[in-house]
Order: sequence, then C-alpha cells, then structure tokens
Amino acid sequence: MTSTHMAWLRNDLRLADNPALSAAANDGDRVIALYIHEAVEGVRPPGAAARWWLHHSLVALESDLAALGVELMVRRGAPWPIIDEIVDQYAVECVFWNRRYAPGERAVDAAIKSGLSGRGVTVQSFGANVLIEPWEIATGQGKPYSVFTPFWKSLKQCPMATPLARPAARAARPSVPVDQDYAEPKWAQKLGAHWQIGETAARQVLADFLDDRVTVYPQNRDFPEIEATSGLSPHLRFGEISPRQVWQAASMAAQVDPDKAGAIDKFLSELAWRDFSYHQLYHRPDIASTPMQGKYQGMAWRDAAPDLAAWQHGQTGLPIIDAGMRELWATGYMHNRVRMLVASLLSKNLLLDWRLGEQWFWDCLVDGDVASNPASWQWVAGSGLDAAPYFRIFNPVTQGGRFDAAGGYVRRWVPELAGLPDKWLHAPWEAPAEVLATAGIVIGSTYRTPIVDLKASRARALEAAAAL
Ligand code: FAD
Repeated sequence: MTSTHMAWLRNDLRLADNPALSAAANDGDRVIALYIHEAVEGVRPPGAAARWWLHHSLVALESDLAALGVELMVRRGAPWPIIDEIVDQYAVECVFWNRRYAPGERAVDAAIKSGLSGRGVTVQSFGANVLIEPWEIATGQGKPYSVFTPFWKSLKQCPMATPLARPAARAARPSVPVDQDYAEPKWAQKLGAHWQIGETAARQVLADFLDDRVTVYPQNRDFPEIEATSGLSPHLRFGEISPRQVWQAASMAAQVDPDKAGAIDKFLSELAWRDFSYHQLYHRPDIASTPMQGKYQGMAWRDAAPDLAAWQHGQTGLPIIDAGMRELWATGYMHNRVRMLVASLLSKNLLLDWRLGEQWFWDCLVDGDVASNPASWQWVAGSGLDAAPYFRIFNPVTQGGRFDAAGGYVRRWVPELAGLPDKWLHAPWEAPAEVLATAGIVIGSTYRTPIVDLKASRARALEAAAAL
C-alpha cells in the first residue's frame, strides 16, 4: 500500500529547513505540497505588493519542488473544505505544517487539526518560522517580555536548533504552471526590476551580505542611500529562508572571520526584533487593531483625508518623507530609518491614526508582515509596549541632514529637487529665492509647500499625548 503525505505550506516557501516538508517527504510514498490563498475570517490576506511577491515565490517553489519530485497544488478559498477534499481524493494519511502565530491563523489551524484528527488523519505541526517559539522564552517571573533588550539577552542564551537540509530528491517530475488565475497588475511590473525572488535568490542575498556588507552594517545601516542592510525581509516574510538559517550562516561567518563578529552580533540583534514582534503578536493578539498601551485608546486622532493622501503619495513637501513614500511605491520596500521617519510624521506631526499608516504599508510593502508591521507602527506611534517615548518626534529636516547629508537618497526619489545644493535639500522652503531659481524650483508649484508646520505640529502632538 502506498502512503500519501501532505505538507501545507504557508509562510515557509522553501525546501531547506522546512520541517513540515521534510516530515511529509521522509515517510510518504507520494508527497503533496499544498498552498492555499486563504479566504477565511481571521487570516489577513497579503497586501497587493506582497501578493505580487507571493505569486513569483510560488512559481520558484513549484520548480524547486518539481526537481525534488513533489507536486505543488495551489488552491483558493476557505482552507477546511479544500484540505478535506484533497485528503479524501488522495487518501492522505498525514498532514504536516509549520506553525504560525496570528490569532486568526492559530484558530484556523486548531480547527483543521481537530477536523483531521476526527477523521483519523495524523496531524503534526512544527516550529520553523521564528528563532524561538513565543512561549519558550519568558522573563524571570515567567511573563512575556515587553522590553527588547532583556528579550535579546535571553534569546542569545537559547539553544538554537540546527536548520534541516532539504529533503532527498525523488524521481523528478515535469514542472507545471502554478497559480494560473494570477494576472500581473500593471503597477507591479516596475517591482520586478528590484528583486530576485525564491529560495535560491534568498540564499544568494544572504551569502552576498555576509561576504561583504555585514562588516560595515553597524556603521552604515541607518543611511538610506547606501545599500548596507541585508535586503532579506521579503524573503523572511515568505519563508524563502528561515531565521534559523540566517542565524546559523551568520554565526558561522563570525566564527570564520572573528573581525566580523561585532557587526554580526548587531545584525542578529536586528533579526531578533522580528522574533520580538512575533513574541508580542502571540501574547497580544490584537496588536494590529488595538494600542498595546491602553491609554492610547483615547488619542484624539485627526480626521484629515487630504493629509493622508499627500503622505501616501509622497507629496508632503518634506523631502525625506516624500523620498521614502515614493521608494515604497516604486519598489515595495522602504529603508528602516525612513520607515521610522514617515511613521513618526504620520502618527505624531499629522496626528493621524497609526492604523491608517500600518494598512498603507501592509498594502504596499513586499515584506508586509503580520507581526513586524503592527509592532513597528506601535513602536513609533508610542503606543507599543517598548515604544519610542511620546516626546520622541523625529524632525525630518534634521534627520535628513544627518542620514542623507549628501542628498543621494532624496535626489534619487524626488528628482524635482535634484538641483538644490545639499544645504537646502531637506528644507527647500527655506532656501533663498535665487538658489531656488537657479535650481529651477518654485515652492508651491514644482514642489509642494510643506503640508504641516513641523514646530507647531510637534507641540500639538505633545499636547495630545499629555492629555492621555
Ligand atoms: P536588516 O537590517 O538587514 O535586518 C535583517 C532582518 O531583521 C530583516 O530582514 C527583518 O526580518 C529583521 N528586522 C530588522 N529590523 C527589524 C525591526 N525593526 N522589526 C522587525 N524585524 C526587523 N519589517 C518587516 O519585515 N515587515 C514589515 O512589515 C515591517 N514594517 C515596518 C514598519 C515600520 C513603521 C517600521 C519602522 C519598521 C518596519 N519593519 C518591517 C522593520 C524594518 O524596517 C525591516 O525589517 C527592514 O527595513 C528590512 O530591511 P532588511 O531586510 O535589509 O533589514
């Protein structure tokens, strides 16, 4: 008798270090990999840019699985009827998956587990998408961590599981087209120029980073003009590479070249923020909808649709903000420093609800993540557990001068300001008339007058926070 096993893949679109796929492949005569575009309450569908990434990631995965001799089925809809039908049709005996942590996702998985168990199907789940399961790490009092630094110190002491090799190949099978319903939106075509997608690409991105850029990561990671960070976030988002693989490769690179060890430690501490976000999501399931600090429920957010639209479209009249929002639109990505600046402007200077910004990011980011996105927004807005204090309001002019002093980032994304000397680039409205004229800029015409007065809006934000 032949046995059929199934791995239900979700945010783990890879062959290596994929315990669910390995378990299915180890004993099953026939192995099915299933991906479902889930339409079910509680599971947040990916935003538009992430859907584009997902499609290409599935195409890459299909071809990798074909070489392995595993078939990939892609379905759309509510997971239970789909899984139920496949289990019936192919007499699946065992179903495996890697865990996920958002409350709705956990509820779906629990219901499916109980449905399958009721039918006598074996179900097994694994930890594979975070460094440490959120319940395996706790403070001395046995509580969830709410502050990053002790979380990081404790994480570093945890034994890290060794990543699994990819399953052994069976007889290769021909590759078949996946996800045939997908039609590439016109706006997405520009994204393709910026990314290589899939497991092979993810490993290459990591290798290139560890070979070279990591050495100066701590010094350069805050400068958006420099390609100084790893660029791994969308690959991690879709699980084309696992955090354990990143951890192991980085740790080995530090052993091989001890000169890199300090820089690698910094890099791993940033990777740990991802785990910290999942730790928060697990323990505070309403992280995307509810301020973690209760008093922020009473925040007097403004209702100002034109300001929101100007922010979304990179038309605020504040150069580094506009550069970031345009980078996001053109590439599906924004540099971390600039993410902080645009989030601070929205939630503090403009006093617009951080959830509006979180949703826009969710829709535009290729790395839009159920944990990191809301946790980071709450961090900047001040309502997170370990948040930036309410009085930390980034000034985009001084931040621009500090982190984009030579103006390469602003000139790239806001080309209408390219002719301005560095001195005025981050506050063009302050430039003398003759400087503007020489650069061909008319404030209010070729480039927008700032939509908000930075000083007055800072005072307003402080007042609003003080009133809480
Ligand atoms: P690197 O600096 O190379 O870091 C390596 C990895 O560590 C990243 O790929 C990421 O997985 C993780 N990481 C680094 N910094 C953070 C952080 N602050 N929080 C969580 N994980 C981190 N990151 C996402 O992956 N998805 C999101 O939806 C997301 N939304 C954000 C929203 C806001 C308002 C802010 C301020 C930050 C957000 N981040 C998000 C975190 C961070 O900006 C990105 O992870 C980082 O810019 C990705 O670039 P990189 O891979 O080159 O990072």
